[in-house]
Amino acid sequence: MCGVLGLSTPHGDGVASMAFFGLYALQHRGQEAAGIAVSDGQRARLHKDAGLVANVFNPDRLAPLTGYHAIGHTRYSTTGGSGARNAQPFLVETMHGPMALAHNGNLVNAPALRAELLSRGFGLTASSDTEVMTLMLTSAGGRDWEERLERTLPAWKGAYSLVILTHDRVLAARDPWGFRPLSIGRLPDGGWAAASETCALLTLGCSDVAEVEPGEIVTLQGSELRRRRLFASGRPAHCSFEFVYFSRPDSTWAGSNVHHARQRLGERLAAESPVDADVVVPVPDSSIPAAIGYSHVSGVPFNDGLIKNRYIGRTFIEPAQAQRQRGVALKFNALAENLAGKRVVMIDDSLVRGTTAGPLVKLVRDAGATEVHLRITCPPITHACHFGVDMGHDGDLMAARHDVEEIRRHIGCDSLAFLSLAGMLAAIAGPEPAGGSGLCTACFTGDYPVPVEEAPVKLAFEGALR
Ligand code: SF4
Repeated sequence: MCGVLGLSTPHGDGVASMAFFGLYALQHRGQEAAGIAVSDGQRARLHKDAGLVANVFNPDRLAPLTGYHAIGHTRYSTTGGSGARNAQPFLVETMHGPMALAHNGNLVNAPALRAELLSRGFGLTASSDTEVMTLMLTSAGGRDWEERLERTLPAWKGAYSLVILTHDRVLAARDPWGFRPLSIGRLPDGGWAAASETCALLTLGCSDVAEVEPGEIVTLQGSELRRRRLFASGRPAHCSFEFVYFSRPDSTWAGSNVHHARQRLGERLAAESPVDADVVVPVPDSSIPAAIGYSHVSGVPFNDGLIKNRYIGRTFIEPAQAQRQRGVALKFNALAENLAGKRVVMIDDSLVRGTTAGPLVKLVRDAGATEVHLRITCPPITHACHFGVDMGHDGDLMAARHDVEEIRRHIGCDSLAFLSLAGMLAAIAGPEPAGGSGLCTACFTGDYPVPVEEAPVKLAFEGALR
């Protein structure tokens, strides 16, 4: 995951501060680094660094970022390490003026593209696929940036929702499969914004919110908006895991509000895997809507049982395994008053590496629960994602190595059930699915919408640079 943001305004008032608040609304999508690049029509300025949005920026850092057009990025690494050199946007000077690029997704053919650039004599400073995309664009022929982008996009295989800053405009583009979300909206001053999630557009007060379609390039230039579809949509493959875990509940994409989709996931789970219990407890925050849904259908009362310190980052996003394990212990306390003497159904959104569920079950038991039944709002994750979610290798995934009963014993719960694939797809699609599922389910099925044989591992490009 990553969050991307683009803005173009007719008057240039407070562009950096708008970008800051837009990025703040996308903080959940990446906590390793943040950056903003701004253009005043001639010159571009950039500030980026490792850290959270509020650590990287303060009024002094934002003040020099004056202009009419801006892009921003919050990073969580999927290709390349988490160091500052991979922070985005990438800003370069070109013969056509300044150009900056920020990207959410993962190119499965990045190794071949990178090798081709190196063989043509390019030097690379970073180990992510985003710098490769930036340099490919700068060296593409074409009369304008739209044409250069149009000529370059067919070479990119995999997931990309991206924003590009040039001296006088912002471009937004999405891959033909539509793996990652990207939406646009009209700013209150008549300008336009693009963002990974609609929650950021709402934060900026946008109206006329719409999706950047898969395979589409959108130009944001002051009060003008131009849309151009490059690829007919083939097999849409919106990431189902965005609905299960990643997106903010107040975001909407692919026709479904995320909160309501999660509530339906819980309702389906209750219908598929009921259990005699006294209380339904969510693992906060992403499982709260699903626990509400489970409670509605099962009739078992909903209550808080785990309290999360919301100021410690999401454990799954943190890149290193050691950080993840420490994060679980630091992040949750049990609410013994709601758990003691109770049979508990604990709702969690997913089970990836299996490092979180065991300690949480123990926490609930230690608080006095007599039984702990774990219900997961998606199927077992058995295959790695190559489209922008850092799940590690297949071997890191607990469900790739163990069956449900083995996982239950490892976690130490009284019963364990996952939502079925059909149940998850129906819940995300909602009551009026707009034709087919259109969802990527590769991490649950191994059915990758794009061949992944050439896909890089996360640190494949660390190379000689340290
Ligand atoms: S493999 Fe899973 S996480 Fe990756 S894009 Fe597909 S559904 Fe999303």
